[in-house]
Amino acid sequence: MYTVTRTALVVVVAMFLAATACGNDESASTTVAEIPTCPTDPIRVVVSVEQWSDITEQLAGACAEVTTVVGSSVDPHDYEPTPVDVAAFTDADVVVVNGCGYDSWAEQAVETSGGSPALVNGCDVVGRSDGDNPHLWYAPDAVSSVADAVTAALQQRSPAASAYLTERRSDWEASMQPYRDEIASISSAYTGRTYAATESVFDDMATALGLRNVTPEGFARAAANETDPSPADISAFNGLLGDGQADVLVFNAQTEGAIPEQLRATADGEGVPVVEVTETPAVGTTSFVDWQVAQLRSLAAALASRS
Ligand SMILES: [Zn+2]
Repeated sequence: MYTVTRTALVVVVAMFLAATACGNDESASTTVAEIPTCPTDPIRVVVSVEQWSDITEQLAGACAEVTTVVGSSVDPHDYEPTPVDVAAFTDADVVVVNGCGYDSWAEQAVETSGGSPALVNGCDVVGRSDGDNPHLWYAPDAVSSVADAVTAALQQRSPAASAYLTERRSDWEASMQPYRDEIASISSAYTGRTYAATESVFDDMATALGLRNVTPEGFARAAANETDPSPADISAFNGLLGDGQADVLVFNAQTEGAIPEQLRATADGEGVPVVEVTETPAVGTTSFVDWQVAQLRSLAAALASRS
């Protein structure tokens, strides 16, 4: 969407210059050269999970055909690939996986595909390993590092598009300004404020914002391992919502379960604002930046209501 809009703008500017700057061929041709069409044949890029799709598409622009294997309607944690999914990795020039055990099926599919794509493994890029929090797309530094690695992989497989891809990387950086602004504004206003969470999905962002996690440790561990928390942990969670220890409850709206729902009801009853976040891009959002900024704004509003 962003690339299309920008392309249209540049074309309009080029036409305007061509119409007004008669005799100034140099400036007209310079502008025309900026139209972002790929200078070479597009390559094949496969992304395992949708959280990295928009970023990869923005960074590749017209220089790649990007295929996403697992879309938003599926819970990536429990995903079992079909033979068609595995076949999608065949002949890929570049593969982007999350790693950290989140999509190990995709790493295996790359190995069995017999190809040798340039592989971007987000978890490796940021120096995490299996068992660490896999929700890298909620860590602003990780998002930036993975974007760098995606650009490097694209450039490695498409050297003729190198300058084009460098430009895409800087356009994408500019498009992320609202995200950085929101993060800066929340951390300057609310560092040290507290949250409890039904899942770890948002924890890296909360850390980047300077929020303090008061989720009972046993509860958080059980949620991360997809096991049931103990009655004592549930009781501790309800207790902290009741006595004002948590400024907000962060709730994964894409997870169904009696325990998260019950905690949400407690929060509602106690007047603790509930901030909904999602594992995968929310339905109706058109880009990573829109998705993240919408969530950050609802967090900011919730924290403001507790001031
Ligand atoms: Zn998750």
